[in-house]
Amino acid sequence: MNGADRIGRFLRRSLTLLAAICLFTPPAFGAESSSSEPAEIAALRASESRSAAELREQAIALRDASSDRRFRAWAGLALAEFDNDLEHADAALAGLDAVLAEARALQLPDLEFATVGRKATILVNRGRSAETDEMLTAMQALVEASGNPSWRAEWLHNRGVLERKLGRFDAAADYFQQALEILRGLGDDLGVARELNSIGMLHGRTGRFSDAMLVHREALALARKAANPGEIARSLRLLGVLHRNLEDEELGSRYLQEALEYVEERNTREAITLLGELTKSLLLLGRLDEAERSADQAAGMAERSGSPPNRVSAFTRMAEVRLAQGRVADARQWIDRAFESFEQVAIRDQIVLHLARAQVLAAEGRAREALAEAEITLAATRKVGDRILERAALLLHSDQQLATGDARSAVDTLKAYQALDKELAIDLAARRIAVLEGSLENERNQAERALLERDNAVQALTLSRQRLLGAVLLVGLSGLLIVALLLYARYRAAERSKRQAIESRDELERLHRALVDASIELERVAHSDALTGLANRHALARELVSRLAESRASGRPLSVLVIDIDHFKQINDRHGHLAGDAVLREIAIRLRQGLRVDSALARWGGEEFIAVLSESDLSDATAAAERLRLAIADRPVTVAEREIAVTASIGVATSLAPHPDSIDPLLAAADDALYRAKRGGRNRVEGTQPDAH
Ligand code: GH3
Ligand code: MG
Ligand code: MG
Repeated sequence: MNGADRIGRFLRRSLTLLAAICLFTPPAFGAESSSSEPAEIAALRASESRSAAELREQAIALRDASSDRRFRAWAGLALAEFDNDLEHADAALAGLDAVLAEARALQLPDLEFATVGRKATILVNRGRSAETDEMLTAMQALVEASGNPSWRAEWLHNRGVLERKLGRFDAAADYFQQALEILRGLGDDLGVARELNSIGMLHGRTGRFSDAMLVHREALALARKAANPGEIARSLRLLGVLHRNLEDEELGSRYLQEALEYVEERNTREAITLLGELTKSLLLLGRLDEAERSADQAAGMAERSGSPPNRVSAFTRMAEVRLAQGRVADARQWIDRAFESFEQVAIRDQIVLHLARAQVLAAEGRAREALAEAEITLAATRKVGDRILERAALLLHSDQQLATGDARSAVDTLKAYQALDKELAIDLAARRIAVLEGSLENERNQAERALLERDNAVQALTLSRQRLLGAVLLVGLSGLLIVALLLYARYRAAERSKRQAIESRDELERLHRALVDASIELERVAHSDALTGLANRHALARELVSRLAESRASGRPLSVLVIDIDHFKQINDRHGHLAGDAVLREIAIRLRQGLRVDSALARWGGEEFIAVLSESDLSDATAAAERLRLAIADRPVTVAEREIAVTASIGVATSLAPHPDSIDPLLAAADDALYRAKRGGRNRVEGTQPDAH
């Protein structure tokens, strides 16, 4: 490991630790007073960058070193979690039962909640639905008793997972959606990313590929924002698999490779799954050497600590690589090893195993046995309804029929293969069209954004033109000033002559007036918005700085309102730009009339206004915002005898002294609130008080 890597790793670990600390800080609004979890245990449980075996050792050491029952119980939870990571599910479940009893005895509801949640996750992954359901009921009771929204989201998520395992995709989607909304409300980016990925996975399974693509992309962005490697890896893998489903192996493999960079030491399961998908892609792309490397890596991991499904997928993939390399004897060894876990895997994995073994038999020239194996596979694929596997089985079956001399049946099977292939190709074309439509929509959005940016650039240009004008005026004024001074000198010199003196004084007065007028004009041009006559961005920023200083000195609150007209683009589109301008002017008037005289109001840019309300707390400011909203929404704006309905969304943020010097956090908070108002359906007011956090 070189120095840069080491530093990178150190930073990552520190970040993880920090994230852990943040994660275990109880939310300010929750009914829970505080977490009973010791910080050391919380940090250990959140750690991803060390292997589960290493972490398990540490959990044991921590537990054994303490005599405090609460501490030991939490350490027990950590230990069970690492057992589960190491695929010792039974040990993990037994450990959790002991922790659960202890949590109840010690009356630690948060430990109880974490423990039943973990049990539910383990049970659901092992297909033990009835027991999972019991755990979910226990979770629900704790949620109801505490009213804690994060717990509710966690419970809803687990419910969704169970429904998905039971194949009830609609119900699952519904639960994930509810969890998503709660987490969005809590501003929990990582939680939102997780729900989005769960929803996207359902879209993928039900063939809604373009929807899936959109939500996974959003999930990826949020996971990156939350700097969570695990969720970044998962988002990238799901995007990669989506592209593979659309037979874009090239792009799919790129996503998968990037995902690998984010998989951390502890997460062996994710790493094996990813490497398996990547191997498939690379094989299909004919990149045998790379495929061999990733299959090798996955097999190594699966040997050390893989669950049965992990072992089956890694070893089967290895056999496929060996077959592609023409190393049939090696392929045989791998497939035999994979078969050792046959009884412990789900039906779909068993089919994959049969199919791979049939391929090995065919390569070995044992056509009859290959034929028998292919027949088993084909029947099984039909039973499960997996048409992609069925297509592969048909092709193999037909080849083996031919090899055993049954040309007639081979032709029939081949026909069935071709029919299915055609059907799947049509299906695929439909999926591709759906995705293309999705990306078209995306491109349109991007084009619109580019237009908006151009708008902004034009505005910036106008601003700098105004500045230039200001500079020119300033130079002119300086010239005038010099002239005035010269004249004044002359006036002094000519004072002795009365006639001369009167003339000079008149002249001086005229120049002085010109000077004053010009500087007033300069002030106006530099500080006002040409369209609405309101203050402009520059002026408001200055005003806000000084009001913030006042508020700090007086200790009185200060509020900012960001007012953004809803769907203003549509107004422009429907009624033309000139009508749009008239609407802006009218809204400016209504806003000015709706505010107290001591409030500042400006056009911040485009169709966005900002008001600054001194000495007003969040509830005053929200009430004022509500009045402004109604002043806009209550009656349409009349332009050229046409009535145009206008609404606006308003974000409110209040700053309580002492607060930072900069105006940026306050504006950002108001902007966030505005964003929430937009998301919440527009024509509404949302407020926030950043200092309270
Ligand atoms: P949202 O409800 O999400 O705010 O939708 P929106 O359409 O109001 O927002 P968006 O930011 O997409 O579009 C704002 C539009 O305002 C785009 C831009 O062309 C228009 N605009 C900006 N400045 C002016 C102006 O001075 N006059 C006119 N007529 N239109 C303007
Ligand atoms: Mg806007
Ligand atoms: Mg708008």
